[in-house]
Amino acid sequence: MNARHEGIFRSAEEAITFACNYSSQQYAMSPMAKLLQGPARGSGRGLTGLDGAGQSGMVFRELETLDYWQMLVLVAGKAIRSESCNCLSPCCRGWRMTELFRESVSQLADQVAREARDVLPVKAFRVAVLRKHFGDKIHVLDEAEKLGIDEHPANRHATTIRKWIRELEKKGLTALSERLDAVGMLVRTT
Ligand SMILES: [Zn+2]
Repeated sequence: MNARHEGIFRSAEEAITFACNYSSQQYAMSPMAKLLQGPARGSGRGLTGLDGAGQSGMVFRELETLDYWQMLVLVAGKAIRSESCNCLSPCCRGWRMTELFRESVSQLADQVAREARDVLPVKAFRVAVLRKHFGDKIHVLDEAEKLGIDEHPANRHATTIRKWIRELEKKGLTALSERLDAVGMLVRTT
């Protein structure tokens, strides 16, 4: 039932990097922003077009079929995290988090509190750990101190959160890999 054609990407990771880069350049993030509206509802498939837009769209269609949280963690990992800001407010440091990154991290921070056992009920701390995981230059223990959390519990909870997010990423990449392979988008190396 699935159309097959020559593979394009060597891995799910390469596919999602391409799709996210392409969409942020070409579509001002709108297809990615659309993904954040809620869990996927079935997939319409139409494998047409092998240009950048077509390939990117195909990757997004497969992403949409994943478990919502697996999709979200993959998108957050590839999202552009910050953009320049000219708001002129006294506390502005000249940049801000992009809407997409802030929203994904916020949703993931809520979800880890629902799913992982024994996570501190301090969302700002969970957000800090997740932002650091995705590459923002954040000192988790400094954040903990600002929030009045001692070093020992801070380390313990950060470990729990990191374990949860890595596990989710691994599952997401495996699932996306299977989807991309099923529609022939992965290069067969054998
Ligand atoms: Zn600003």
